[in-house]
Amino acid sequence: MVNRSSTPMSAPQGIDPLLDQAPCGFLSVRDDGVIEYANATLLTLLGWERAALQGKNIVAILPVASRIFYQTHVFPMLRVQGAVTEIYFSLRSRSGQDIPILANGVRRQRQGDAINDCVVIPIRQRMQYEDEILRAKKQAEAAISAQKQAEATLKHQYERAVALGQITQHIRESLDLTQIFAVAAQEIRQCLAADRVGIYRFTTADEAAGGSFVSEAVAPGVDAVMVAQVPHHGFGEHYQGIRHNAGTLAIRDIHEMRLLDEHSQLFSQFQVQASLVVPLKKEADLWGLIVIHHCSGPRYWQGVEVELVESIAAQLAIAIHQADLVQRLQSELQERQRTEVRMTQINAELRRATDLLEQMAHIDPLTQIANRRRFSDRLGQEWARLSRDRLPLSLLLFDVDYFKYYNDTYGHQSGDDCLYAIAQAAQKVLGRPTDLLARYGGEEFAIILPNTIQKGAIAVARHIHQAIAALAISHHASAVGSQITISLGISTLIPSQKLTSTVLIQQADQALYRAKQQGRNRSVVFDPIMSDSR
Ligand code: GH3
Ligand code: MG
Ligand code: MG
Repeated sequence: MVNRSSTPMSAPQGIDPLLDQAPCGFLSVRDDGVIEYANATLLTLLGWERAALQGKNIVAILPVASRIFYQTHVFPMLRVQGAVTEIYFSLRSRSGQDIPILANGVRRQRQGDAINDCVVIPIRQRMQYEDEILRAKKQAEAAISAQKQAEATLKHQYERAVALGQITQHIRESLDLTQIFAVAAQEIRQCLAADRVGIYRFTTADEAAGGSFVSEAVAPGVDAVMVAQVPHHGFGEHYQGIRHNAGTLAIRDIHEMRLLDEHSQLFSQFQVQASLVVPLKKEADLWGLIVIHHCSGPRYWQGVEVELVESIAAQLAIAIHQADLVQRLQSELQERQRTEVRMTQINAELRRATDLLEQMAHIDPLTQIANRRRFSDRLGQEWARLSRDRLPLSLLLFDVDYFKYYNDTYGHQSGDDCLYAIAQAAQKVLGRPTDLLARYGGEEFAIILPNTIQKGAIAVARHIHQAIAALAISHHASAVGSQITISLGISTLIPSQKLTSTVLIQQADQALYRAKQQGRNRSVVFDPIMSDSR
C-alpha cells in the first residue's frame, strides 16, 4: 500500500532518488488510476507540486482524447501484456496546455497490488521538428510544381520559337508565296492548337472591295472556308474595320460582338466561337490578314500567342515584299530578253544586208564573178605578198573575138548570156583558192594566178580555151570559126617593190594585142620584144 501522506519532494520508498531527477518523466499509477508517484522532472513538465498531484487520479493530467485512449488501449495492454512501448499521447499541464509525449510502461506487483510504472518523454520538440519537416516538404513540393510550371512555360516558348524559326527559314528559302502561306498557316494552327488558320487577301486597295482566303489550314473535322467558296463580301466587310486601325483584333467570344445578321450566320456556319485576326502588310499598305478561328468555345488569346502570330505576320510581310520584287524583276528580265531577241534579229538582218552590200561592191552583177575593183585590190595584195616572198605571179587577160558581130547577129541579150556562160566556164577551170577570175571590162576578162610560173599559166590558158570551146556557142558572124572563141595574153613576173602591178597588166595586154593580131582564137605569152615593137 502507498502512503498517501508521504513527503512530496522525497522519492517514495524503494525508488532510487536518482530516478527523481532523471532526464525523463517517471510516473507510477495504480490500477484504479490514482497517481502514486511522479518524479520531479515530470512535475516540472506539468507544473504540479508533488503534494498536489500525488493521490490524484490520472485523469487530472490527461486531456479528454488521451483519457479515452488510456482507458481503452494503454491500461488494458498493461494489464494483459504487462508492458507498453512507444505509446504516443498527450498529457495536460496544470495550466491546461497539452504536451505530446512518448511513453513506455511496465506493470509490476507490489505486495499484492499492481503498479504501472511509466517513463514519459516529452516530444513537443520533435513534433515541432516534424511540423517543420512537413512545412519544408510542402514548400519543396510547391517549389517543384512551380519549377515544373516554369519548365512547361519554357517548353511552350521554345516550341513557339522553333515554329517561328521554321517559318522564317522557309520564307528565306522559298520565293513561292503559295507554299510559304501553306507552311505558315499549318505552323500557326499547330502551335496555337487552333481549329482554323487562314491567310486572307484583300482583292484591291479599294475600301469597298472584299477579299478571299488564299491559304488555309484546318483541324481534322473542321470545315474549310476556302473550299466552301465564301463570297468576298462575307468576311471581307467584317474585316474592313481592321483596315481602318490596322491592328490585331483578338475576340474572346464572337457572341459578345455586335455583328450584322449575315456575318453572325457566316460565323456560326463555320462554328467560329473565338477569333484572332492579325494584319498582313506589304510595306505601308494593308495586304491581307492572318485569321485564326477557335471553334470549340470562347478562347482567351494569350499575349504570347498574339506576339507569336504578329512575329509570323512580320515574316510573311517580308515574303510578300520579296515575291513582289521577284515578280517585278522577272517581268523586267522577260522584257529585256524580248528586246535582246529582237536586237539579235535586227543584227542578223543588218549583217545580211551588209554582206549583200559587200558582195555587191565586189561582184559583177552580169557574170556573177569578181568585178574590176576586186581584181585591182587582189592584184595589189598579191603583188605585195609575192614580192616579199620572191615568188612568181602570172596574169591572163582574154577578150571575146568579134563580139561586136555577135551582139549584132544574136542581139544584146544573147551577148549578155554568152558573157555569163564564158565567165562560169572559165571559173570552173581555176583550181586554187587564191586564183581569181574577174570581169576586167565589157567582154574582157582577167585571171590572177599567184605563185604560178609561165608554164603553169600557159596550161591554165589552154584549159580556158578548151572550156569555152566546149560551150560550143554558135557565132556565125565570126571570122575565125563558127563558134565563140577568145584571144588571150599571158604575163609572168616575180613582183618587186620597185615596180607596180601595172607592169604586169600592160604586158598581158600587149600579149593579148598580139594574139588578136596573129589571127585570134589563141594565147600569146608576153615577150619583152613586144613592148619595143608596139
Ligand atoms: P575583137 O575583139 O575580136 O577585135 O572584135 P570585137 O567585136 O569583140 O571588138 P570590139 O571591142 O570592137 O567590140 C566589143 C564589143 O563587146 C562591143 C560591145 O557591144 C560588146 N560588149 C561589151 N560589153 C558588153 C556587154 O556587157 N554585153 C553585151 N551584150 N555586149 C557587150
Ligand atoms: Mg574588147
Ligand atoms: Mg573582143
